[in-house]
Amino acid sequence: MPELPEVQSVVATLRPALLHRRLERVLHLRPDVLDPPGFDLAAALAGRRVDRLERRAKRIVFQLDTAERFFIHLGMTGRLLVADADDPLPPHAHLLVSIEGGRQLRFIDPRRFGGIFWMGRAARHLGLGPEPLSLRPDRLAAALAGTARAVKTALLDQSLIAGIGNIYADESLHRAMIHPTRRACDLTRDEVRRLNRAIKLTLRRAIAAGGSSIRDYVNGVGERGSFQQSHRVYDRTGQPCPCCRTPIDRIVLGGRSTHFCPRCQPR
Ligand SMILES: [Zn+2]
Repeated sequence: MPELPEVQSVVATLRPALLHRRLERVLHLRPDVLDPPGFDLAAALAGRRVDRLERRAKRIVFQLDTAERFFIHLGMTGRLLVADADDPLPPHAHLLVSIEGGRQLRFIDPRRFGGIFWMGRAARHLGLGPEPLSLRPDRLAAALAGTARAVKTALLDQSLIAGIGNIYADESLHRAMIHPTRRACDLTRDEVRRLNRAIKLTLRRAIAAGGSSIRDYVNGVGERGSFQQSHRVYDRTGQPCPCCRTPIDRIVLGGRSTHFCPRCQPR
């Protein structure tokens, strides 16, 4: 699933093609990917200019020249791309919008866990916690102190911290040398500080590498990321830890596959 670094890369690669350009026409829309259902997206987008394009957590937020906003969530397998209008159309294209100048915005999502969410002008509260890249240690400490869940599970809770998913939770905990099943509220101040640094460093490096392409992730112009080559633990079960050569272990925690080094991350 695309997480913060992947969504950041999508936004960065879409901006040159979309910012300050007009959306001309909605050419195709599969209605069941739209929230609220039945909303007339075609009428709302036609002729509007994209004034801002930003990432919030794992969401791609468009702001139009009417000050209305909508966001696209990529879910598990969603891709948001700009292509030439005559490029062959891939299957599972749920939204096609022609852009001033002849290009086309395409939302493709085989498994349809993603979607398009119209917000309008309302400052709709998204129920999201703070962004990890600007998170201060005391804020992280406060978020973790309030829950007895496993620290890995707490990191995935978007209402506590927004944008981290399975890959970057595992990678950050390894860098911070913290076992994923430790109770969040039991972490010491020093561990929280280490974790805060590890999250930022991991996300920044992943952004610099264009994100992780585990399955079908590509950015807004169809390029794969390369951070999967730098993963320390994620999806590396049985392979040697980059720090101590101990084989990486895998458990299932809160229903999610969890990877860690039993030596560097003692219980
Ligand atoms: Zn190790």
